[in-house]
Order: sequence, then C-alpha cells, then structure tokens
Amino acid sequence: MAATHNQEPTQLFWFRRDLRLNDNHGLFSALNNGKVIACFVWDRDLLNTLQLDNPRVNFIHQSICEIKQQLQLIGSDLIVLYGNTQEQLLKLLTTYKIKTLHWNEDYEPWAIIRDQQIQKDFMDYEIHCKMYKDQTIFAKREILTQQSKPYSVYSAYKNTWLKKLAHEGCQSYLSENLLTNFHQLQPQKDDFTPLQHGFEQLPALTGGATQAQQRLLNFTSKLATYNLNRDYPFQDLTSYIGVDLRFGTLSIRQSVQLATSQNNDGSLTWLSELIWRDFFSQVLFNFPYVVTQAFRIEYNNLAYTNNPVWFTAWCNGQTGFPIVDAGMRQLNQTGFMHNRVRMICASFLCKDLLIDWRWGEDYFAKKLLDYDLASNNGNWQWCASTGCDAQPYFRIFNPYLQSKKFDPEGEYIRKFIPELSHLDNKAIHCPSNVDLFSATNYPTPIVNHPTQVKLAKIMFATIKKD
Ligand SMILES: Cc1cc2nc3c(=O)[nH]c(=O)nc-3n(C[C@H](O)[C@H](O)[C@H](O)COP(=O)(O)OP(=O)(O)OC[C@H]3O[C@@H](n4cnc5c(N)ncnc54)[C@H](O)[C@@H]3O)c2cc1C
Repeated sequence: MAATHNQEPTQLFWFRRDLRLNDNHGLFSALNNGKVIACFVWDRDLLNTLQLDNPRVNFIHQSICEIKQQLQLIGSDLIVLYGNTQEQLLKLLTTYKIKTLHWNEDYEPWAIIRDQQIQKDFMDYEIHCKMYKDQTIFAKREILTQQSKPYSVYSAYKNTWLKKLAHEGCQSYLSENLLTNFHQLQPQKDDFTPLQHGFEQLPALTGGATQAQQRLLNFTSKLATYNLNRDYPFQDLTSYIGVDLRFGTLSIRQSVQLATSQNNDGSLTWLSELIWRDFFSQVLFNFPYVVTQAFRIEYNNLAYTNNPVWFTAWCNGQTGFPIVDAGMRQLNQTGFMHNRVRMICASFLCKDLLIDWRWGEDYFAKKLLDYDLASNNGNWQWCASTGCDAQPYFRIFNPYLQSKKFDPEGEYIRKFIPELSHLDNKAIHCPSNVDLFSATNYPTPIVNHPTQVKLAKIMFATIKKD
C-alpha cells in the first residue's frame, strides 16, 4: 500500500452505508479534523452468506467505484479492502499513522457489536474512534414518549418527530466543500470485484451518488401528486430512492429538505414515508429482539402451517393470483417491488398461505435491492399483524379487490405475466373464472381466498384466548 504521506498523522474515514462524498456527517467531521484517508472494507464473512444473484453487491461496487474516481481526480484514492473487517482495518495501522478513526453509526444489532469490538481494538493502539448520526434524521433514543420510553405507535412518534424537526431543523454537512483535505495517495489496487467472485449483474438500478441525485431530481416534479399516485404499481411515480437511502448514495437530510421545501399533500405524504423509515430504525434499535421474534411476543406462537410447496409457488410467482405473481416476478427480475404490491404479497403469504412472516422476510432480504433490516422487518411485521402498530389481524387484503383497485386495467399484471396479456381488463384479475384461461400455462389458484381468510382468523383468535 503506497502512500505519499504515510508517516504524517492522519484521520481515517471508514465508508460503510454512507457511500457518497456530499453531505456526509462523519466525513465532514473527519475532513474538519485534518488530512484524511478513506477506506471501504468488503466483509468476506458477510459476502460468503450471500447468494450470487444478490443485487446489492454490484450496486455497492458501482458506488465505491464512483467515489474512487472522484478521489483520484483530486490526487487521492479510496482504499478498498477485502477480508475480515477488524483485521483489515487494523492492517492499515502498519502503513499509516492514524490519529482518529471516524465512521457513521449503523443501528443493526450485529453492526453495533462489531463496531464496539473495533473501538476496543483501536483503543489498544490509543486511537480514538468517533461516530456520527448520518443514516436517519433522529436515531436511537432521541425521540421518546413523556415517560421516556421509545414509541411503538407511529402517529404519536410522527408528531414528536415533526415538532423536533421544526425545532432543530435539518442541517447539511457540506463535506463536498472540504475535499482538498484528502491526503494525496497513489492509485490503490482493489482487492475485490463482484465479477471476480461470481456475483451476477442484474438489470437493476445503477449505484453511485450521481445516479441517486438523478433519481431525486426525476422525482421532484412528481412530489406534489405523490399522495394521489403512489399506490398504483403500473405508474412510475414513486422516487426509487430506497436503495440510495439504504447505502447512503443519497443523504436522508437532502431528501427531507426536498420534502419540506413544498407544502402540499404530496410532499406531506412523502415526508410521512421518510418518517416511517426513522420509526422502524428506532424500533430495531430499542427492541432488537424483533430480528427473530414477533414484536408482540404472544404472536410467536401462531400455528402457521408453513407448506413448502406453496412457499415455492409464492417465491416463483406461480400462485395463480395475478397481482401476487406479478409482484414476485417484478422482485425476482429487477430487485424492486412496488410498495402496494409488497403489502399484497406479504399479506397473502401470511394470511392466505398461512406461512410464517419470517420466511417472506428472509426471501425479500435475499432479493430486494433496497433491503434494509429495520424497514423490511418492520413492514413484514406490520403486514403479518405481529408488529407494533400493525394492521389488525382481522383486516385481510383481498388480492382480487386490491388488484382491481390498484391495477384497474391490468397494466402491471400484463407487464410481468405476459401469458395473461390476452385477457381483458376484467378477466385479468381472476383468470381462473375464464374459459380462455385453460389455453394459457398460468397456474390455477393454489388456495381459495375466502377459506384461507377464515383459517387465518381462527389462527389469530386462538392465540387471543390463551
Ligand atoms: C413487506 C414489505 C417489505 C419492505 N421492505 C423494505 C426494505 O427492505 N427496505 C426499504 O427501504 N423499504 C421497505 N419497504 C417499504 C417500501 O415498500 C419501500 O421503501 C418503497 O417501496 C421503496 O420505493 P421508493 O423508494 O420508490 O419509495 P417512495 O414511495 O418514494 O418513498 C420514499 C422513501 O421513504 C421510505 N419508505 C417508504 N415507505 C416506507 C415504509 N413503509 N417503511 C419504511 N420506509 C418507507 C423509503 O426509504 C423510500 O425510499 C417494505 C414494505 C413492505 C410492505
């Protein structure tokens, strides 16, 4: 590892889920503290747990390549390492005289444990670690009830969140203005590329902060009518920034600034969605048992039937329920699924197929480009009625009615289930009712919705009586 100033004391900034040079809180502070070198570590153990069709690996790679190019343009570079994270970070101490290690906080339980360990390791070398809030507007225990407890009801959390934002504002950290404080570095060799390790390139959204800015810009003109359009999956009218907030190619502060720059029903609804993200982040931080258990622990004992054949049909978009199958095929092909359809597919898995929400959560975790433990877990538990402030268990989506309401002309279904494209706008929602149906190779419904609804209600009601 060749550095031109390797004996000069330096600040080390560790990029994690904040893959951008602009409005980056931790990077801003590091650059304000002196000359900086920056690194990213591909965690070998984590990568080994991923399937080769995981869409996120290429997104991360594209994002760090962009940072590398931007730093090389100013005579510096991003040091990209591969291996055990602790070992790789400590290895840097043999080459550089590091004064302080800076990173932005991560609130996932396993990341908290890893970060505590790294902090200890560096303390052994008398190197301080400094951590910053960057991923959310409010984090951890910043928003509490009057009894100093974390919120478990979204609407009350949101009211307090809005008051706090009005009081404190939403300040940017203009790291992009301090880039001259990066150390000059000779070009560094990358230790990892997804291709080399067999990771597939899917036709998914492209990584990097430039693309993220473009996505936000494209959405700006759609913001005012977001409340009217967001539920229609055939329209292209949501922001698609989920993945950018997940990997930090876009700053949450910039997103909230956009939301609050307008005062209309669209911008207020979109802001509420960003607040849901903060809400689930603090649920995960304050109630980390939700990673494996129901938030409402009485629902750990739900007697799901967990039919593996039905689960495979659900995963492959072969249940015979067009709106569900279209959603699952969108997910499998693109790494994205529209929010309304995520709700329909999740409800269908838990309450029509009577399969444990954790199976679905796990499948989404493998396939979603914007997969985020807090949001995925929170939303799955919401749909499964096991979570805090969740959908009541007796309110069960009817997939046929949802389909007619939110995809009235079957445009979304036709896009992802071409074998149904010949059906008219009425038949397409429930093709098994149609004679023509036998001519296609689309499956007949694997369950009867009204029967399954009764069974789901019994499953929940049994728990209530215990
Ligand atoms: C079963 C299920 C699983 C989900 N898993 C994830 C996940 O792993 N990661 C994820 O980011 N979102 C998840 N969501 C929430 C939501 O579906 C996505 O955030 C949204 O579809 C992303 O598209 P978008 O960026 O165009 O969102 P927009 O509609 O433009 O919303 C803007 C942003 O607000 C946030 N947001 C919107 N809705 C929610 C929500 N319900 N909960 C939390 N944050 C929200 C996201 O960061 C999103 O990018 C899930 C929803 C369901 C029902």
